[in-house]
Amino acid sequence: MTRRRKINFPVVGKGQIRWPQPGNFECPVCGKLMAEGEKMEQVVLNIGAMMQNDKEKNTWCVGFNLGGFMHIMDHTHGDVDLPSISVDVVEQSAFGQADLCFCSTKCLRAFFNAIVDEADRQIREEGGK
Ligand SMILES: [Zn+2]
Repeated sequence: MTRRRKINFPVVGKGQIRWPQPGNFECPVCGKLMAEGEKMEQVVLNIGAMMQNDKEKNTWCVGFNLGGFMHIMDHTHGDVDLPSISVDVVEQSAFGQADLCFCSTKCLRAFFNAIVDEADRQIREEGGK
């Protein structure tokens, strides 16, 4: 059985693009090595945006001045315009893109659970305003 690691949010911050950081091939959830020799086993949650550079040809390119984000917010207990909680998963990632890498769909699922667990924790502590 693999041990689940504590996840600190955001997992991808300003100017970053990959989690775990480039050169680190340990699954950020269970710690399993995802690359050995030339063999690579990864499930990647790819987050991003592209800029359309030619509408007629329908071509797209990387937006070098974009900052990507991924948040879970809850408006239930707060102001309509301001969320009462926010789990900032990705914040101002480079080129508006981010790759979150896992050893398996099991760890990807555990990651989504960790995000929702963090939202629940914030709602318990901050909610009910
Ligand atoms: Zn894993």
